[in-house]
Amino acid sequence: MNHIIGIDIGGTSVKIGLFDTEGNMTKKWSIFTNKEDNGKYIMKEIYQSLINKKIDLEKVVGYGFGVPGPVVNGTVLQAVNIGWYNYDLALEFSQLVSNSNVHVGNDANVAALGEVFKGAAKGKKDIAMITLGTGIGGGIIIDGHSIEGVFGAGGELGHIVVEFDHPRQCNCGSLGCLETIASATGIKSEFKELAHSGKYHTFLTNIDKPSAKKIFDAAMRGDELSNVVIDKVAYALGYACHMVSLVVNPEVIVFGGGVSRAGEFLFEKIRKEFKEYKFYAVQNTIIVGAELGNDAGMYGAAYMVSNA
Ligand code: ZN
Repeated sequence: MNHIIGIDIGGTSVKIGLFDTEGNMTKKWSIFTNKEDNGKYIMKEIYQSLINKKIDLEKVVGYGFGVPGPVVNGTVLQAVNIGWYNYDLALEFSQLVSNSNVHVGNDANVAALGEVFKGAAKGKKDIAMITLGTGIGGGIIIDGHSIEGVFGAGGELGHIVVEFDHPRQCNCGSLGCLETIASATGIKSEFKELAHSGKYHTFLTNIDKPSAKKIFDAAMRGDELSNVVIDKVAYALGYACHMVSLVVNPEVIVFGGGVSRAGEFLFEKIRKEFKEYKFYAVQNTIIVGAELGNDAGMYGAAYMVSNA
């Protein structure tokens, strides 16, 4: 039986999935991300791990990779968390495995491909995905392929500016990016700021260190301050969905990442905000939660090989 290998490289672990050529995952495991010497051992350790698992490399049709940074033509422009700069991952790994069928993409784009392949946007050609984690990642798929862009910034939806009145500084250098409002970090900062303003009541006691999950839970239980924070999150995400819809008119917008576990409570609010924009041609855009969780990257990486 022939295989495809789908690999999702993160800052702490590398997830490796073994797939059949139909895209069914038959095995998965993970190894530690060795960031020593700017990540120079990672490819060798992935290769070694495949050998240790007794994968017959002769039967591997191709390899797909999702990496945490912008990618252009198989080269990682920068992965700050790992220490890669202008790193030709495709070339390096091709040489290790003696197989030139190696595909590399940005992790958020690759996760979006995963949802197209086997998840919430299965079978759809045109979708956007917004991943709400510590930061915000985005991926745009058009006609089954992700938009990479000239410098790998295609689909970086987390840096759409949504707050103009009282913007907070974003890691990217701009002020008021979506990430400063709707990422787990943004939600916590917003809550803390408003809590200290004393304008709204909250029954949460540890107001300096609430987790995003605690804030969502409190909002569901009617906490005033938490609801003000979450309503702003939904407003910002609804606005971002509208922007994306006007640019690429996707059939589905998928929300993934830890914050999206708030589920329908959050999605209903986003849909409501989105509906406030009346341009007729984007009114039917479907907004849903992701289905593949942490496996999306591996599925998407395998999809790049099978859809090449
Ligand atoms: Zn930004």
